[in-house]
Amino acid sequence: MLGKDYTAQDCSLARALEVVGERWTLLILRDAFFGVRRFNDFQVHLDIPKAVLSDRLSGLVDDGVLERRPDPDHAGRALYELTPAGRDLWPALHALLAWGDRHRAPNSREFRHAVCDTPLDDHAYCATCGTSPDPHDIVTAPRRGRRQRVRREDPVAVALQTPHRLLEPVKT
Ligand SMILES: [Zn+2]
Repeated sequence: MLGKDYTAQDCSLARALEVVGERWTLLILRDAFFGVRRFNDFQVHLDIPKAVLSDRLSGLVDDGVLERRPDPDHAGRALYELTPAGRDLWPALHALLAWGDRHRAPNSREFRHAVCDTPLDDHAYCATCGTSPDPHDIVTAPRRGRRQRVRREDPVAVALQTPHRLLEPVKT
């Protein structure tokens, strides 16, 4: 089996990849920024095998990127939320989104600075107020006029059809 770490690489990129470099992890984190917090919601929105999701969530909790706490609405279940270290991954995640948009396929969503209503540029920067907004201050919505390549009908996808502030829990 392929190891998870890069012990011979003396570089902080290697240390970061030990946390976020596994398949599915960045998509789980993207959904966490979208406000997905429940195991079932991650599962139906990502079509990820349950065992893999369970493994990735536990790993992210162990690494201090997600925090697990009891779900007040469902006894015995958990909510997963980004920690401050997890929220610090926003610029990296946005940079990968922008790269994919430019070099692979146009992104189906846009990100706007909530107070200015200005779309963020490729550097997650708002040209109107000259800041890189915190995820709490960013609204994501389907990009106007852009037909979605895959139309998903799961509850998370449906909730994200309307403008949604990052980190605000999605209603499913
Ligand atoms: Zn702004």
